[in-house]
Amino acid sequence: MIPYGRQDISEADIQSVVDVLRSDFLTQGPVVPAFEKAVADYCGAQYAVAVSSATAALHIACLSLGVSPGDVVWTSPITFVASANCALYCGATIDFIDIDPLTYNLSVARLAEKLEQAQQKGCLPKLVIPVHLCGQPCDMKEVSMLSKQYGFKTIEDASHAIGGKYCGEPIGSGHYSDITVFSFHPVKIITTGEGGMALTNDAQLAKRMKLLRSHGITSDVDAMDPRPSEQLWFYQQISLGFNYRMTDIHAALGLSQMRRLDEFVAQRHLLAKQYNEMLNDFPIVIPWQHQDSYSSLHLYIIRLKLEQAGKTHRQVFEALRSAGIGVNLHYIPVYLQPYYQSLGFTSGYCPEAEKYYAEAISLPMFPALTVAEQYQVVNALKRAVSV
Ligand SMILES: *Cc1c(COP(=O)(O)O)cnc(C)c1O
Repeated sequence: MIPYGRQDISEADIQSVVDVLRSDFLTQGPVVPAFEKAVADYCGAQYAVAVSSATAALHIACLSLGVSPGDVVWTSPITFVASANCALYCGATIDFIDIDPLTYNLSVARLAEKLEQAQQKGCLPKLVIPVHLCGQPCDMKEVSMLSKQYGFKTIEDASHAIGGKYCGEPIGSGHYSDITVFSFHPVKIITTGEGGMALTNDAQLAKRMKLLRSHGITSDVDAMDPRPSEQLWFYQQISLGFNYRMTDIHAALGLSQMRRLDEFVAQRHLLAKQYNEMLNDFPIVIPWQHQDSYSSLHLYIIRLKLEQAGKTHRQVFEALRSAGIGVNLHYIPVYLQPYYQSLGFTSGYCPEAEKYYAEAISLPMFPALTVAEQYQVVNALKRAVSV
C-alpha cells in the first residue's frame, strides 16, 4: 500500500537521536532549547515553546490567551478535531465558519459576516483559529484586520504548514496572529515522532505557555508570590499546568529534520507539479494555489467532479484503496463527528464544507514518493473514474 503520507528519516536523524541517548539528559537538557531556537530563527519569531504535541500546543495557547468558560472560539470545520477540541478543554464553546470553495480554508467573507451578526447579538468570539489546510495559509492580512476591528485573538493552526510562506514571509513569523502552532506528527512536514510547538512574539504569552507545559511550576524567584527565603531547592506552583514537555530525544530528531525542511517542501512542490500535469484531463479539481501563498503542500487533495466521473465518491475511494493506494479524506467536517452532534450541531450547518467533504480525496504525498508510484496512483485513479 502506498500511504498518503510518511516520514523521511536519514542516517543523520538516527545519529542525532542516538547521541542524546548516550548523553546526560533524555529530557529537559540542551536539545529542546536548541530545537526551539532553530524553529524560531527559521520563522523569524521571537519565542518558541516546544511541547509533546500540537494538540498540547493548541491547549496551552488557548489558556495563555485567557480562553475560559463563557468564551466563544471559532475555527474551520475542515480540520483535524484538535483545532476545535482545544477550546472545549478550556470550557469555552466552539463554533465553525464555512470554508472558501477554492482554498478549503475558512472563508474570510463568511468570517466577516458572522462577526457582524455576532456583534449585533453581543456574542463576539474571544478567539479565532484559522487552519492552514494542506499548508496553504489563510488570508491572514484580512483575518488580522478583522481581529483589530472586533477585538478577538488569533491562533494559526499551522500543523500542516511549517516551511510554507505567506506574502513572502515564513508561516510562523507571527505578524498577523498572536500564536502559531506546528505539529511534528510523522505524517506532517518534519517529525519528532510526536511533538508540537507554539511560536509567538509576545514575551508574556511565551512565559505563560512555558509555565503551563510544566505543571505551572516556576523556579524563577521573581515570579513567586510570596517571595521565598533562600532555599536552593525552592520552586512554586503558581498556576494549574500539565506535563506537556517535549523530550530531548524527540527534539534531537526535530532539530536534525529542520536541516532538510526546505528540501522536503521543494520536493513536495515537484511532486505536486508532476501530479498536476499527469491529472490534466481528469474529471477532478486539482489543488488551487493562492498567489500570496507558498504552501508546504502537506496534502495533495483532489475534488471529484462526480457527474463527469460517473462514479460515486465511495466507489472511487474503494477502487483506489483496493488498488493499493492509501488514499485518505481530510477531513470529515468536525461538527459532524458524533461528539459534536451531541453538542447540538447538525448536518447542513456549513454547506461548502459538506460539498467539499462529498468530493475530496487526499492522494499520496510525501518526499520519498517516486514518479513510478505517482504513475501507479494516477493509473489507478484513471481506472476508477473511467466510465
Ligand atoms: C495533526 C494536526 C493537529 C494535531 O497535531 P498533533 O501533533 O497530532 O497533536 C492539529 N491540527 C491539525 C490541522 C492537524 O493536522
